[in-house]
Amino acid sequence: MVLPSAFIASLRELPGFDEAAFLDVHNQGVFPTSIRHNPRKAGQSVGFGASHPVPWCASGRYLSSRPSFITDPAWHTGQYYVQEASSMFLEQAYLQHAAGFEAPRVLDACAAPGGKSTHLRALMGDSGLLVSNEVIRTRVGILSENMQRWGGAGVLVSSADPRSFGTLSDFFDVMLVDAPCSGSGLFRREPEAVKEWSPEQVELCGARQQRILGELWRSLKEGGLLLYSTCSYSPRENEDILDWVCGTLGAESLALSPDPGWGIVETRAPLSGAFGYRFYPHRLEGEGLFMAVLRKTGGAAVPAKRTAVQGLVPLGHREADLVKPWINEGDRYMYARLGESIRAIPEAVAEDMALIAAALPVREAGVALGQLMRRELIPDQALALSGLLSSVVPTLALSRQEALDYVRKDELRLEGAPKGWALVTYEGQGLGWVKVLEGRINNYYPKAWRVLKR
Ligand code: SAM
Repeated sequence: MVLPSAFIASLRELPGFDEAAFLDVHNQGVFPTSIRHNPRKAGQSVGFGASHPVPWCASGRYLSSRPSFITDPAWHTGQYYVQEASSMFLEQAYLQHAAGFEAPRVLDACAAPGGKSTHLRALMGDSGLLVSNEVIRTRVGILSENMQRWGGAGVLVSSADPRSFGTLSDFFDVMLVDAPCSGSGLFRREPEAVKEWSPEQVELCGARQQRILGELWRSLKEGGLLLYSTCSYSPRENEDILDWVCGTLGAESLALSPDPGWGIVETRAPLSGAFGYRFYPHRLEGEGLFMAVLRKTGGAAVPAKRTAVQGLVPLGHREADLVKPWINEGDRYMYARLGESIRAIPEAVAEDMALIAAALPVREAGVALGQLMRRELIPDQALALSGLLSSVVPTLALSRQEALDYVRKDELRLEGAPKGWALVTYEGQGLGWVKVLEGRINNYYPKAWRVLKR
């Protein structure tokens, strides 16, 4: 792999950079594969060998090879997420500084495809509200899919421009900005991206990162935390951004204490002295990453922009009584419609979700239960994966081959299955819905999720 000379020259003075070792790992053509287990769906094994733990993430494991995840039914039930190991350092940032917030309101502002959002949801346990936002419309579908697969009800998926968040003034306790960047940290995995790199592109990314942060700033509470990360090595997108946030928006830096044996390099921003953490593939098993934690001390902010929204409409008692039996502890939820879809929203975050749905374009709120048609609930895929389902709903356990037939939407034969709706499961976890009729089984796996690979 030929890396641009201007790129290498821009890294030479950075702490922890070793040119020969850096070029060497980029020329080897190999990189680690890692997954993060889902604690909600724990206790199950992945159908292939996990080799050793990711040092900075309790649920992270490296794999000895890269299997076909798409043909592993356990992946479809959301038992694990395939994620690059350095990104899992979010766990240290969250646990060391954000774990003290009780029932926090957390925003993941640049969330697709959902790696860090699924991680945040796991780190938050069952409490608090996570808003996973992705401004690029074409990327919201995959974010929503991954959040559904991960399960749980305390997530709202929105698709708003960062500037629209200004209408939620002083709202969030924690904000993750995993910013769009020049992507040099991923060159080893995506050699095609090398062609896009230029000093001008780095400058454009830096300016965009400042714009995003400035637009979001109003919605972070004073004393709230900004977790900032990129997968770029360039100081313009990292240390310089910390300086700009501290100096212009008003923030102080919080240090992290990674184990010295992990190979993570601490860096300081030139003006503010803010702490940052650099990941280099020649120093550890992972790709290039930068991460920092800042605490908001000041209030400079860009004015808010209002956008057209759909809103959550509370469900009447009669309709709520029709859907409640489908879920466990149904009284802990508020029921509402988002468009045609009926949602179960944890009471504890219902007011917050309603407020956000009135301010931003919302794609998902709580768990989509399904649609009511002539007083019958047509259950949603999200309900199957949520972990909320009541034990009175019939289930059909599938073998690995049957589970694969199911996600491929091939014909299923399940002898002796009782008529009506049933949840199909794999290794004890919900996979999707079938409706058993006289002489045939209707497969309700979403068409858009169908697996084509044989
Ligand atoms: N956090 C994600 C994860 O861990 O799976 C990865 C996020 S990726 C580094 C950055 C995201 O920012 C992309 O999904 C991209 O679509 C989004 N993005 C692009 N332009 C943006 C903008 N102007 N404002 C906010 N987000 C933007």
